[in-house]
Amino acid sequence: MRLPSLPGADDPVVTEIVEAAARLALGRRSAELDLAPEFPRSEFRALGTAGLLGLATATEHGGRGLPLPRVATALFHLAYLGGTTFAKLSLQPEFSSVLGDHGSGPLCDRYYRPLLRGECLVGNQVTEPGAGADAGGLALRAERSGDEFVLRGTKSEVAFAQDADAAIVYARERTGSTDLGISAFLVPQHLPGVTPTIVPDLGERWMRRGTVVYDGVRIPLDHRIGEAGAAFGYLKRELTRERALLAAIYLGVARASWEETVRHVGERTAFGRPLAAQQAVAFPLVEDGARLDAAWMYAERTIASIAEGAPADGSAALSKWMAVETALGVLDHAIQFHGGRGYSKALPHEQRWRDVRSGAIAHGPSEIMHVVAARELWPRP
Ligand SMILES: Cc1cc2nc3c(=O)[nH]c(=O)nc-3n(C[C@H](O)[C@H](O)[C@H](O)COP(=O)(O)OP(=O)(O)OC[C@H]3O[C@@H](n4cnc5c(N)ncnc54)[C@H](O)[C@@H]3O)c2cc1C
Repeated sequence: MRLPSLPGADDPVVTEIVEAAARLALGRRSAELDLAPEFPRSEFRALGTAGLLGLATATEHGGRGLPLPRVATALFHLAYLGGTTFAKLSLQPEFSSVLGDHGSGPLCDRYYRPLLRGECLVGNQVTEPGAGADAGGLALRAERSGDEFVLRGTKSEVAFAQDADAAIVYARERTGSTDLGISAFLVPQHLPGVTPTIVPDLGERWMRRGTVVYDGVRIPLDHRIGEAGAAFGYLKRELTRERALLAAIYLGVARASWEETVRHVGERTAFGRPLAAQQAVAFPLVEDGARLDAAWMYAERTIASIAEGAPADGSAALSKWMAVETALGVLDHAIQFHGGRGYSKALPHEQRWRDVRSGAIAHGPSEIMHVVAARELWPRP
């Protein structure tokens, strides 16, 4: 058996990141969090202390400021080592880049820098019961009242519903009878009128997703992030970067299971010979190796385009779609070719499958990834 080397295996910065992560024993913790879901606050702090939060975030915000291709490779390795949990947590500052890029100095000092240190969990709340894939239908309102905004409405499906210290809340801003469009607001989550409810999930259970009701929640005017009505423009840039980087995470997770399966079928004998001698077993695994490579090359090329400032909304969307599809196929084969143990919690493949499955919905459903790419092929007049 001869396995191809991992991308960026000889990059010293990636090696340093992987070694720092390995010292935190994240793989084992990820399985524990699946069984007893909670937000891993102490690991979050440890990631911050080790400089593993905000790998791509600009140094002036307190991040590492690494070039995106290197960040993607590091995330691939983090996911290969410990599954989606801590690789995604490492990306949390990227998921909140709207705050870092457009929030006022005091807001960033109070919430964004502490996020990078692992001291303050900032969630993102876009989805609502009546508007998810079609975010244009957001109904949560932020009405200006004297020197405050008053928020009314409900967010749903959001990660860290109960655990976030603060959240970036996307809301329809109104002043009097004028609708100013969708703005972003930094909302501390312990204010009167904020009521979270958790709904258990198939995978990524540590995120403790759920619903957050805002009933007359008052925040100061300076808690709006950036300009009135400009939030979707800010979010679009963030989504392109994060979708491409998420692809690296899903592929890293799948690569781990693929290697473990290749090893396993080379050793396990049935009917007097190794499972790998059965073409019905070997051929899907050979194809999976090629698919993983192809999806990585596509994601890598997309990430290089983003790093150069080239338009990449469509290919970033397709990178996420392709990585999720590829990874789910690879993980399904890992479950299958490990037999009964593959389906059980004795092995990590079933959790990995459940965790990666979220990628076909979160950060935009796969169908919407196609919509984004189709818009580039057939631009609207
Ligand atoms: C693990 C996880 C974490 C999440 N974290 C957050 C978070 O932190 N913050 C947040 O705001 N949201 C979060 N979400 C919510 C996620 O962004 C939404 O669930 C997603 O955008 C879909 O919205 P919806 O659930 O309202 O589904 P709907 O909009 O009702 O869509 C349902 C399904 O219909 C299909 N569909 C929709 N539109 C089209 C179309 N035009 N063409 C073809 N098919 C279509 C898709 O299959 C889609 O999945 C998370 C979701 C998951 C699973």
